Amino acid sequence: MDTHRLARIESEARKHRFVGGCLCLDFANTINGHGGTPMHEYLATYVDLLIWSHKAGILSEHDAESILPAANRNPREAAAAFGRAIALRGTIFRIFSALALGDSPSQDDIAALDHARAIALTHSHIHRTLRGYVIDWDNKTALDRMHWHLSASAADLLVSDKRLSVRSCRSDKCDWLFIDTSPNQLRRWCSMEECGNRSKVRRYYRRRHGLAAEHLVRRGVK
Ligand SMILES: [Zn+2]
Repeated sequence: MDTHRLARIESEARKHRFVGGCLCLDFANTINGHGGTPMHEYLATYVDLLIWSHKAGILSEHDAESILPAANRNPREAAAAFGRAIALRGTIFRIFSALALGDSPSQDDIAALDHARAIALTHSHIHRTLRGYVIDWDNKTALDRMHWHLSASAADLLVSDKRLSVRSCRSDKCDWLFIDTSPNQLRRWCSMEECGNRSKVRRYYRRRHGLAAEHLVRRGVK
């Protein structure tokens, strides 16, 4: 079998940064610009989703390479699985962005996540290892396999106290979500390297050159 085919496929998914602090938030962050004109989309196809899932640690390289032929043989099913993943992404984003803003998520979104979680449960089982027991997943090559991990991650976050620390990036160019683990709980940016530094540059230009120069800076960034 031709192995490592996935590694040779060019994909925006490879460029995605993991700054959310939780699997489900990183998945929500695979697009920047939910609900409007996307400023950046990292997932355009099912293969992108496969590549991202491997990069996120959901799928081993072997499992991802095993799913790829099934996706190629069944493009309609792969497209449907991709559509379900994108719908789940929207559900996760709406739930946690609402919480980040101090609002209550909609009952429809909670019900959609609960439904996805219930499906995930039917695919999980207790597995004995040399060191004890772990929860493992059935059917390693199912096209929907990443959904189970993602819905379980979102449900776990929702019922934990960590949900209280979910924040939305304060940049007006970014709507990414993250868990604020800073001691004073005042983190403002999804990442200091990107949004934090961009904000610093804007503040600098505003002080030195006024708002007109700031607009010039804005035009040159993400
Ligand atoms: Zn950001």
